[in-house]
Amino acid sequence: MTPNERSTVLRASVPLEQTLLAPTLRLSTRFSVADLMRSDIARREQIDNRPGIHLQPNLCRLATGLEAIIELLGYPIELSSAYRCDLLNARVGGVAGSQHTLGEAADFTCPGFGDALEVSLALHQSTLDFDQCILEFGRWVHVSFRENPRRNTLTIRSASEGYLAGIHDDSGTRRA
Ligand SMILES: [Zn+2]
Repeated sequence: MTPNERSTVLRASVPLEQTLLAPTLRLSTRFSVADLMRSDIARREQIDNRPGIHLQPNLCRLATGLEAIIELLGYPIELSSAYRCDLLNARVGGVAGSQHTLGEAADFTCPGFGDALEVSLALHQSTLDFDQCILEFGRWVHVSFRENPRRNTLTIRSASEGYLAGIHDDSGTRRA
């Protein structure tokens, strides 16, 4: 939906509920909208983090990508953050226009498989069509899916150092 279309919808006084996805909507075998919009901060601060209906294709692609990651790793994943509305994204210090706000990205761990370094190496070595795989602060993996995936792997260890190309371990050695 373009910004113009959205303002038309709002002017036509369509109830807000009809422009938002129902949390019960199933996106893939394992994931519903509720799973991808869940956020402790949103709940605590009463931020309405329901995604707009125009994001359904992106969220379906993300859910399907997460299913493929679970199949690859052979263990359940723990999502810490997937979709974020602009307000929530700003609240958690996300980059403006982050793929989280488009329903394209998720942050996760997979303790059954290994630590975040091992998970990001497994994604790097797989044939999965992710857009970006970012090892973040050695603690979780940010993965995104979009229509034209770049298969880009990055590491961020500190805000001051910024993003490094490839997967780097805690000692700074590039591993992939
Ligand atoms: Zn992320």
